[in-house]
Amino acid sequence: MMSTAEKKIWQVLEAVTDPEIPVLTITDMGIVRGVKINNDEIEVIITPTYTGCPAMDMIAMNIRLALFENGFPKSKITSVLSPAWTTDWMSEAGKQKLKAYGIAAPDKKFMIAKDGVECPQCHSVHTKLVSEFGSTACKALYQCNDCKEPFDYFKCH
Ligand SMILES: [Zn+2]
Repeated sequence: MMSTAEKKIWQVLEAVTDPEIPVLTITDMGIVRGVKINNDEIEVIITPTYTGCPAMDMIAMNIRLALFENGFPKSKITSVLSPAWTTDWMSEAGKQKLKAYGIAAPDKKFMIAKDGVECPQCHSVHTKLVSEFGSTACKALYQCNDCKEPFDYFKCH
């Protein structure tokens, strides 16, 4: 059974967004592993998406700020690296939001980025891998042969 405080904390976490993809919350991303209440201190356990992803420091800061603003002044963030985060932990709702934002969602068929990832704009599969690295290391850059729009693909791992 979740306590009232625990429920409130999860609600706060559900509103914290990813600084790189502001439409996704950290719970959509599936990076929150757990919440512990140690007396008056809140511990949030997270698993970073990509090791060394600079966004993680900002995420940790945003979590603490959101908790502070919601009446939890004392908090700490613990990173757990094992088991490693995989794109499988991303929620279905998260994948839909990603597509609506114009980024192709991770797809097991494209573990290794190659031509043919579905275009988030026109849903064509006539797409071409332009670069293995898009706007960030976690994404690959594609170009659609039909609508001619470039787009990012959130790489699977
Ligand atoms: Zn297209």
